[in-house]
Amino acid sequence: MALRLHNTLTKKVEEFVSRDAGKAALYVCGLTVYDHAHLGHMRAAIVFDVLRRYLEWKGLQVTHVQNFTDVDDRIIQRAQNEGVPFDEVTEKYITEYRQALEALNVLPPHVEPRASRHIPDMIEMIARLVEQGYAYYAEGDVYFDVTKRPGYGKLSGRVLEDLRAGARVEPGEFKRHPADFALWKRAKPGEPNWESPWGRGRPGWHIECSAMSLKYLGMGFDIHGGGDDLIFPHHENEIAQSESYTGKEPFARYWIHNAMVMVRGEKMSKSLHNYFAVMDALRVYPADVIRYALVSVHYRKPIEVDEERFADAARAVERLRVALTAVDAVMASVKVRDGSGQPSGKLVGAVQRARSAFESTMDDDLNTAGALAAIFELVAEMNRAADEVQKGQIPAALAQIGLSMARAMFLELTGLLGLAFKSAPIDHEVQQKVLRIAQAFRSTAVHSNTETLISNLLDVRERARASKDFSTADQIRKLLAEAGIIVEDLPTGPRWRVVSAAGSRAPSGGGDG
Ligand SMILES: [Zn+2]
Repeated sequence: MALRLHNTLTKKVEEFVSRDAGKAALYVCGLTVYDHAHLGHMRAAIVFDVLRRYLEWKGLQVTHVQNFTDVDDRIIQRAQNEGVPFDEVTEKYITEYRQALEALNVLPPHVEPRASRHIPDMIEMIARLVEQGYAYYAEGDVYFDVTKRPGYGKLSGRVLEDLRAGARVEPGEFKRHPADFALWKRAKPGEPNWESPWGRGRPGWHIECSAMSLKYLGMGFDIHGGGDDLIFPHHENEIAQSESYTGKEPFARYWIHNAMVMVRGEKMSKSLHNYFAVMDALRVYPADVIRYALVSVHYRKPIEVDEERFADAARAVERLRVALTAVDAVMASVKVRDGSGQPSGKLVGAVQRARSAFESTMDDDLNTAGALAAIFELVAEMNRAADEVQKGQIPAALAQIGLSMARAMFLELTGLLGLAFKSAPIDHEVQQKVLRIAQAFRSTAVHSNTETLISNLLDVRERARASKDFSTADQIRKLLAEAGIIVEDLPTGPRWRVVSAAGSRAPSGGGDG
């Protein structure tokens, strides 16, 4: 079956055919690193993570490039307000963003170019655009002349005549047309700046993504992605300058845009002060719950995030986890694994149906909501089979093969959506206790989820042991035990698990992989 994706450029759902057979080149506009990432940013990261995983599952070798915009007015503003160098601001938020992605099981991009490290590439592009007459110099700035580009507006559907009326030229700008945009901005006092043929200055935002995507993926790469708030002007301008620069079309073959995360009907954004920072969300909800909530709605529909959305996601994740645990319990009860059992026909059929339903719904413009429905069909069969074994209606040995096939398919399909089931849910009380222990052993507050806090504490304990500070090491172990986290030292390293109030144990993602 062939994957079909909605292409903003053609406004149609089209079959995905890559530029190079067997490969897919993906560029996603990354974060402007001046503040905490919020759930809106995570939706984009997760949508394109699912797309990447799905393309790989389809057998394509994906190159995923996602930039950091680390030269920007808002970064400069923040650095000036805090009285620190601009790269101190960017470094801090890049680190935090990467932690959030890791916690949410988002695969790291293959290349993460930073704008500040690609200035010569941008200067080269701008120089050629000036030479070709697509751009002009004005008072230390360089602007792209939109009137020189036939077809400007083809992505967003904007018309130049309307833009003339709608846009305004800010004081200090020397544009010929209000829709012209800056490729290079002259240096202002106290701002980071670089030498260029037009004097010292810095690049405009749009040229950054053109230069970095062309450098790592080349002209005509497969997928350019981002939030739908980037269609105009950012992506429209990327197309105009890249196609002018190379003299070829298309710059990117498929333009994929995710809809926004909404709070009470309004777009979640920094400027509206209605955002939920990812690191705060991770302190309240397990990573799987956040991921589930964000993939439960089709990527082209806005998603309202509220308590109810997360409560629903938490219940759904729990149902998935319970099914997996039930199957594991049945499998563990089979003492002799001689493979003599016959696969249960019903379950094998359900496994095949789940795979094909999952694939056909994902092929239909990445319908993750439908994909979850396919997974739940499989879960119903897993529960039924586990239940039959527990009631003694069928011998465990007979169900074993079918169950292990179902289990593998369950993990494969949920894994494509990035659900990890790494550990048992850690309840709020335990989370709070772990946070207090982590604070006691660190001078600065750590913005991280509970699992990361535990693993950091185990690192502190390992370092203490290595330096023969056994009292610190013992103290960490004792405090964690009091909080309900049992640490075991295995030859492969320490492993931890949660002991609930009732004394039941759940496996965890510890050092034993
Ligand atoms: Zn971009």
